Amino acid sequence: MKVSVFSTKPYDEEFLERINKDFNHQLSFHSCPLTPDTINLVEDDPCVCVFVHDKLNRKVIEALHQKGVKLIALRCAGFNNVDLDAAKEYGIVVVRVPAYSPEAVAEHAVGLMLSLSRKIHRAYNRVREGNFSLNGLLGFELHSKTAGIVGTGRIGTALAKILTGFGTTVIASDIKSNETCHKLGVEYVSFDELCRRSDVISLHCPLTPDTYHLIDEQSIDLMKQGVMLINTSRGAVLDTQATIEALKSNKIGYLGLDVYEQEEHLFFEDLSDKVITDDVFERLLTFPNVLITGHQAFFTAEAMTSIAHTTLQNISCFESGDTCATLITADDAKP
Ligand code: NAD
Repeated sequence: MKVSVFSTKPYDEEFLERINKDFNHQLSFHSCPLTPDTINLVEDDPCVCVFVHDKLNRKVIEALHQKGVKLIALRCAGFNNVDLDAAKEYGIVVVRVPAYSPEAVAEHAVGLMLSLSRKIHRAYNRVREGNFSLNGLLGFELHSKTAGIVGTGRIGTALAKILTGFGTTVIASDIKSNETCHKLGVEYVSFDELCRRSDVISLHCPLTPDTYHLIDEQSIDLMKQGVMLINTSRGAVLDTQATIEALKSNKIGYLGLDVYEQEEHLFFEDLSDKVITDDVFERLLTFPNVLITGHQAFFTAEAMTSIAHTTLQNISCFESGDTCATLITADDAKP
């Protein structure tokens, strides 16, 4: 099938081209995002393949329909960037990569936790400058602490497995419980109770109208003084301004982010020669107890291989007229 692939970086092309040897789709790569201005790059391709920052709102979906596009293949798990009602209305099928490597994201969340709890990000810089003082580097152990996981789907469950191995007590909140987590001894509690009891809170729910700003002034108020907050889900699950206020008052003692509310203006690009005009993001960077990575939790060789394989398989599945197991419907966006 002819496919217009948007928002590509060299690494996307490398993995897709390698795996496509088994599928033989005709891939046209575009490094730009899919927007109303770039839609003309879709010639007579029945499929567009997009990533997390491509905004497939009603306007874009209408234009894709006029171009004869029948399939939107997401190269990611989250689908909050697609107007599923509009896609349904225009008869465009939407498929995604629901599970590529939950361990990639779970391990990155643990990486953020350990870097923050042992202040490795600060130690790295000190040692390079010949400063071997331990003042200010006092850490804490995850062993015997309580970690609260919000959303025990694939990634939350992978994280629960790792944390129970550390001897951490794991509690969780989700709209549905998960058998694997039950077997691991994870205790399901309400979101408010999770906020009250956790030393570390890690977010692994999707961004939906229900989870938008789930972490806000009210929920932060419930949390322990000095709590560690980790967000590798979607930026807007956390109210950044409320989080900054809580960092200023030391209510939040550690913040690890792989995602950010306004990340589409920053992440995945080299802006090192530019002035960053996002003052909220710049304020976050001033805190010594904040560690930010630029949406790289998924970025492992294993996950990239799996993403390319599932994406191309999804396209083949659609082409052969089969119902694809990774199809998303408007109902999936509802809790
Ligand atoms: P999943 O669908 O397997 O699990 C999501 C879980 O969240 C489900 O158990 C669901 O019931 C639960 N949930 C839904 N609404 C909730 C609510 N209001 N409160 C608590 N729990 C709720 O998804 P997953 O594969 O584990 O991925 C989770 C999220 O991680 C994705 O939606 C995506 O946004 C994000 N993600 C980020 C990266 C990254 O690189 N940073 C990579 C992959 C996924």
